[in-house]
Amino acid sequence: MSKDPSRASPRTIQLCLDDMAYNGAAVGRYHGKAVFVPGGIPGEEVQVEIVEERRRYSLARLIRVLVPAPERIAPPCERFGLCGGCQWQHIAYDAQLRYKEKIVRDQLERIGGIPEPPVRPVIGMDDPWRYRNHMQFVVDEEGRLCLLAMGTNRPVPVGQCRLLCPELAEIAAELELEFPGLERVVVRAGRKTGERMIVLEATGHDLPELEMDRALSCVLLRPDGTGVALVGSSHYHEELGGRRLRVSAGSFFQVNTEQAEQLVRLVREYAGAEPAATDSEAGRAEGAVRRPVILDAYGGVGTFGLALAPAAEHVYIVEANPDATADARANAAGVANVTVIEATVEEALSDLDEAIDIAVLDPPRAGVAPRALNALVAKHPARIVYVSCDPGSLARDVRALVTHGYRLEVVQPVDLFPHTHHVETVSLIVSDAGR
Ligand code: SAH
Repeated sequence: MSKDPSRASPRTIQLCLDDMAYNGAAVGRYHGKAVFVPGGIPGEEVQVEIVEERRRYSLARLIRVLVPAPERIAPPCERFGLCGGCQWQHIAYDAQLRYKEKIVRDQLERIGGIPEPPVRPVIGMDDPWRYRNHMQFVVDEEGRLCLLAMGTNRPVPVGQCRLLCPELAEIAAELELEFPGLERVVVRAGRKTGERMIVLEATGHDLPELEMDRALSCVLLRPDGTGVALVGSSHYHEELGGRRLRVSAGSFFQVNTEQAEQLVRLVREYAGAEPAATDSEAGRAEGAVRRPVILDAYGGVGTFGLALAPAAEHVYIVEANPDATADARANAAGVANVTVIEATVEEALSDLDEAIDIAVLDPPRAGVAPRALNALVAKHPARIVYVSCDPGSLARDVRALVTHGYRLEVVQPVDLFPHTHHVETVSLIVSDAGR
């Protein structure tokens, strides 16, 4: 292959980038075929090397930016492009937010079949750094915490990660761990409580001996999901929506506490459940106003369900993970109108006899399983508040809901993951039929 870029080999091409793809790469066209270029920005002219040729598209490596976009900035992290954690540090933050809005819009149009989807501008962060309260690492042969290099299984020591909150950055940079069977290390913190936890995911049966001179817990998580506290407690606490929540080593929790407050606020607003509506004069006079029955599906430790409980007749929190349901039950202690159901959403919905007025859905990336979605629409909730971390599966599920007589009212993206291409959204989907 020629070393002279002006005499490009057939695999090295020059390209104008004109769009941002769903996976965070910029896209150009070469002889009519889409070429994905990670690290590129729409509007740029670039020189790339084709690294993989597929039938409908090609994947390329950016060699040189010939004409940069005005949004291009110098990535602050020296590991950017090597470490697979961030994709967008080379894009100015306000432009990242515009691309995320466009990605959501495009997916809803293309996959959701919704013309001019009602997508609002993304709610960004004032300071979009040091936001992660949770990070997962692998360990290299020296026991240092590492992230995986982009698209490979090669460990890259993290050193000072700019996405990690200060309470954890210090641990991640200094911790050295080695014992047989150690596969992953997760560090977690309650930003508002200051509590910290190290989770060791290991295959072996041996319990490592640990000496810690810091105020933090250390939990060994076995492959079957059970946790053993080696130091301190098997859970920590975080505060969200004015509520203190218990979180165990194996339970999901939103990784960006500051932006998760926006999620809670939006879920409350879109659920439209006003606290104590039945106690109002008007409510009593009419005698017809009753509080809604709310389903919090994929409920985790009870984040949304507990925030809605004061406005609800009853809340059913459905969650499959036993650690998370134990946390949700502990978090719901003393709240009379909350029931925590340990089951998959598909199972729980077919067993639940009660009518549901409002459903909150917050599924994993794959979205809501068709069986769960069918069981949900059979209950005719008047409103569905859909919290999504994947615009593709959101679009697919919205399309299905539209065929069942629902309408997409509004989509509010929230930037939970600055400097990555990931987009979180809260959508309100209403029944056109009424109840
Ligand atoms: N709403 C919560 C958790 C969202 S993460 C919060 O904001 O904190 C998604 C949750 O769904 C996880 O806790 C996961 O354990 C759970 N889950 C995944 N698949 C499920 C299924 N099929 N049925 C029920 N829960 C499921």
